[in-house]
Amino acid sequence: IVVLRDVHKSFGQIEVLKGVSFQVKRGEVTVLIGKSGSGKSTALRCIDRLEKVNRGHIQVCGHVLTDPTLDLRQLRLDVGIVFQSYNLFPHLTIGENIMLAPRSVKKLGKAQAIALAQQCLSQVGLSEKFDAYPEQLSGGQQQRAAIARSLAMQPKVMLFDEVTSALDPQLTGEVLRVIEGLADQGMTMVMVTHEMNFARKIADQLVFMHQGKVWEVGPADVLDHPQTEELRDFLGHDL
Ligand code: ATP
Ligand code: MG
Repeated sequence: IVVLRDVHKSFGQIEVLKGVSFQVKRGEVTVLIGKSGSGKSTALRCIDRLEKVNRGHIQVCGHVLTDPTLDLRQLRLDVGIVFQSYNLFPHLTIGENIMLAPRSVKKLGKAQAIALAQQCLSQVGLSEKFDAYPEQLSGGQQQRAAIARSLAMQPKVMLFDEVTSALDPQLTGEVLRVIEGLADQGMTMVMVTHEMNFARKIADQLVFMHQGKVWEVGPADVLDHPQTEELRDFLGHDL
């Protein structure tokens, strides 16, 4: 459902992705790991075409991202992305935040949008928070609300970039459980995380990036049998 082939991306003179290739199958969870600066976020952003690649091929849900006739709107309907910062509108309730895009982009009627928002909130364990404002929620709850907002667009692929790194351990756990629930429901996901235990548990595929390249890719047990010095080194520092 997602294919990256020999993707190169530079910012000015600096080549950040130096030929990245991997594939994501429908219903699978791919976890990107690697040191700070290795290019994980950039790779993720390329999948949503928040960044344009310089060279190589990317295909997502049948959209060829390098195609000049790409329908960006359709791509963004198929791909949901959640970042470390939740970016909920503070002056809108949680329910209103979630209904915004389904109403304006998908032209849902009000009753339909409310039902959808309620369904998405219950999926992330926040049924009671429909009328609350973001500031009345904990960081973990806000992040779950941000995930619900993304789910409300019914994407085919969800991208998560270190969604728990701003949270303390207890709140991290509740967000990770929501992501695990999505995985169990068969959502296709690509995520960047530094939570190695979670990565091991949830990943169908692990992609280890280092200095803009993929060094190891395989099932979660690549963590138990690192083939390269670079991954051994990374895990040593990280555990
Ligand atoms: P982290 O774990 O710290 O989030 P990362 O693996 O996600 O790191 P990226 O954010 O992809 O790393 O960044 C890779 C490199 O690209 C870094 O050296 C960064 O400074 C550079 N970079 C990222 N975005 C930009 C940008 N918009 N302009 C210039 N350089 C950038
Ligand atoms: Mg990053």
